[in-house]
Amino acid sequence: MPSTQQLEQSAEHRSKLLIDSVAGCAYYMLDTDGIVTSWNTGAQRAKGYAADEIIGRHFSTFYSSEDLVTGEPARALQTALAKGRYETEGWRLRKDGTRFWASVIVEPVHEADQHIGFVKVTRDITRDHQAEEQLAHTNKILDLALSNMSQGIALFDSTETLILANEQYSKLTGIPPGAARPGMKLQEILQIGLGAEAENRCKWIRERRASGQTSEFLTIKGETDRTVAVSEQLLPDGGWVATFEDVTERKNAEQTLERIAHYDALTGIPNRALFREFLKKAIGQSKRGNKCALFSIDINRFRSVKNVYGHRVGDELLKAVARRLQNSTRDGDMVARVGGDEFVLLQTGIAGAKDAEAMAIRVLEVLRLPFQIETHEILIDSSIGIALAPQDGVEADELNRKADLALYRAKKANRAGYNFFEQKLEVHLETQRTVEQDLRQALRRDELELFYQGLIDVKSESIVGYEALLRWRHPLRGMVSPAEFIPTAEESGLIVEIGNWALHTALRQAASWPDYVKIAVNLSPAQLRNESFIQFVKDALSCAGVKPNRLEFEITESTLMDGDDGIMSTLGQLQTLGVRIALDDFGTGFSSLSYLRNFQFDRLKIDRSFVQDLASNEPSRVLTRAIAGLGASFGMAVTGEGVESRAQFDYLRAMGCSEVQGFYFSRPKPVSDMKEELRNCFVQRCVV
Ligand code: C2E
Ligand code: CA
Ligand code: CA
Repeated sequence: MPSTQQLEQSAEHRSKLLIDSVAGCAYYMLDTDGIVTSWNTGAQRAKGYAADEIIGRHFSTFYSSEDLVTGEPARALQTALAKGRYETEGWRLRKDGTRFWASVIVEPVHEADQHIGFVKVTRDITRDHQAEEQLAHTNKILDLALSNMSQGIALFDSTETLILANEQYSKLTGIPPGAARPGMKLQEILQIGLGAEAENRCKWIRERRASGQTSEFLTIKGETDRTVAVSEQLLPDGGWVATFEDVTERKNAEQTLERIAHYDALTGIPNRALFREFLKKAIGQSKRGNKCALFSIDINRFRSVKNVYGHRVGDELLKAVARRLQNSTRDGDMVARVGGDEFVLLQTGIAGAKDAEAMAIRVLEVLRLPFQIETHEILIDSSIGIALAPQDGVEADELNRKADLALYRAKKANRAGYNFFEQKLEVHLETQRTVEQDLRQALRRDELELFYQGLIDVKSESIVGYEALLRWRHPLRGMVSPAEFIPTAEESGLIVEIGNWALHTALRQAASWPDYVKIAVNLSPAQLRNESFIQFVKDALSCAGVKPNRLEFEITESTLMDGDDGIMSTLGQLQTLGVRIALDDFGTGFSSLSYLRNFQFDRLKIDRSFVQDLASNEPSRVLTRAIAGLGASFGMAVTGEGVESRAQFDYLRAMGCSEVQGFYFSRPKPVSDMKEELRNCFVQRCVV
């Protein structure tokens, strides 16, 4: 058995080497059984034992109980002896029981071929170990993150070699799982899916990247095509990280949104928003000599078509109109639907108004051809307003407004046709605006008032009611007739406020008249279209304390011309309330008979143009007699309007009219002048 001294001396030169290679480490010696025989200060620092505390004890003291159980100390020595060196890492214990991660080297020591013991070098590498563990942990998390992320990711180095990729990368790019492996070149990977095409594709990718574009969309063919967004992040060393994301749903949603935002859902043609963009561009070009024409197109009486044939047919008709309009245009033109039955068309690259005119005529003709919708053959006509760019304007809104104004004129003239924008239309609009402003002021300043004209019972020739007629006591112009301001009020929508004011006022004033005196009030279509109109009438009646059966509304045929179901139903509801409905100015409208069939009016008022001619004109007599007969056969009372002479009155009485109205009996007068007339009428009634 070698002495400790021997052991120390013989091992000295070897351990020196070890110590040199592992600077800052602890070393100590064991005898052949593993008993500590020497201990240096490094060892003392590392393990906490002083030399005299440990020398003589077995080195397994430094091992954890787990290592002891598995026989680690003995194995270390055996391996070192058998292989000449044993290296390991593991937890070791300090004297105070704390642990440190040790890098351990054990080598046998021989003296003259005789094994005399071991030298053991231990290094505290807890910090390195922790860093490694941290790294391993991080890598694990990274792996987990990479394999769980919905995006595909691939890292390439500057030589286009794949360094790392996750599973999603293969999935999203359509490469079979496992086929793209680290170490492969980009081109090799592309070959998997593209074959011979890979080289070109590779070139293309390089060129794209060189041009500074680091993203693109791929279409991956499959059962259903998928869209994959690729985005590259260039790395300082020349490599790059590419992320792949399946954006099929997003793309689809975007496309849907784009469709909704820019196309009309019913007809599939562009909507106002898209048209506006297009118009702006075209106007921009028109400044450079590329003239264009904007057409505002409106189908006349579309509402009646819808009422007669139903919504479905109406919708189909709109689709067919859209198709015909599109077929009438050339490449570079655009048709859009901008409202219920309103279309716009932009004709580009024209030489001047002549080309626009030709287009307008073509469109009118094309829309005049019969439409075959389901089993119906439908005929429509349309009106067109035209504005030219740059001539009429170089702003989209301005041009739109001018085309609309021209359309409005075309419709107003009540003809199916086209109309070019003209400066005088704006002048007219300007006057209209002034009147409108004045009217607003008139309402505020209480300049409006009602005149009343007696309604005469033919039998008793006494007043049985009054029609309220609006007057405007203008501070400068004096008394203004409704014929002058009602059209403007109707166009601006102010008529609702004015009409409602008239109703309220008429009811309030009628409240002080005898109960049997009815009150007739004229109504505008806009009032009837107002959803709360029924409630308004109820409130006005109860507020004034007037019974509904004293109230008679007068509407004109033009109110019904729109064929609006809503208006019909409102009229019906008013009748249910007990209010009577009269059809005013009868005979001046269009297809009067159909209205009489569709709605049970309480009264017909024969327009004064017929009455005025009664004495002199045989056809007028025939017509008036026919109207009176018609009224009787439909169970309606008939009033003759505008009676200015006894002769006219006699005719009307003979024809069966039950009431008359006219200057001969009573002129429209302010409420202050009515007292006497009312008293007379009351006296007369008592006498009768
Ligand atoms: P209308 O409803 O047909 O009213 C009858 C018009 O004929 C009144 O004209 C009246 O003054 C006039 N008139 C009555 N008898 C005779 C006559 O014997 N000879 C002649 N030459 N004319 C006669 P006015 O007051 O100028 O009203 C014109 C139109 O304005 C009314 O025609 C009516 O459509 C409208 N209007 C009047 N007040 C209102 C209202 O409160 N609301 C609405 N929406 N329209 C109203
Ligand atoms: Ca009237
Ligand atoms: Ca009338």
